[in-house]
Amino acid sequence: MPETYNLKVIILNRWPFAEDHGRVAVYSLERGRLELVVRGLKKIKSKLAGHLEPITLANIMAVRGRQYDYAGAAVSEQGYFNIKNDLEKIAAAGQAFRVFNKIIKADQADQEIFELLKNFLAVLNRTAAGKVSPELLAWLFIFKLLVKLGHKPELYYCVNCRAKILPAGLKFDLARGGLIGAECSVKLEPFALTISENSVKLLRLVEKNDFNKLSKIKINNKEENQVKNIINSFLGYYA
Ligand SMILES: [Zn+2]
Repeated sequence: MPETYNLKVIILNRWPFAEDHGRVAVYSLERGRLELVVRGLKKIKSKLAGHLEPITLANIMAVRGRQYDYAGAAVSEQGYFNIKNDLEKIAAAGQAFRVFNKIIKADQADQEIFELLKNFLAVLNRTAAGKVSPELLAWLFIFKLLVKLGHKPELYYCVNCRAKILPAGLKFDLARGGLIGAECSVKLEPFALTISENSVKLLRLVEKNDFNKLSKIKINNKEENQVKNIINSFLGYYA
């Protein structure tokens, strides 16, 4: 009897592998990020294919193999079809997964990261058109992931003089890792990005709250771009 183990996973990616097999990259609750081979994935009658599409929450019975562990059985629990039927949402999930793969180390389980990923997909799945944009949700997910990994920016006190942050003339100082007040900013001329009071409020909200609570965010286009740019730059600087 081959040795088996059960995994609750979110399928991140899938690609062809040797003849008619496939390979899936997953983030599992039990073991973190890992890859599994799926035998006969490309065969028309593959029972596993539908349960192992990217952007799916599934339960997998994995089988230990000599060279590769493979998925012996799989049952999808949530297919997130509102994401799969929306190109903008697919692109947002893809963007989030690319960053996720880059900054999450393999084979390290973390229940909070699993929940965050699951909540991100749930919110992205249920967000209606005209509400918070899928792309912004992806960046907010990336921001929460960075905070979770210990890259927590200072959002309340000036990173130079430690004085409480006042709303006017604020900048986000990348090297010092957080907000810098107007006076220090003029004095030091740091490599910093302009940030509005509303953008600061949004980042504070995201840092503090469960991802489930973030689908009702209201923000204008200019501030959305500002927030995306700051998170992208922060990601480039620290990860
Ligand atoms: Zn200061």
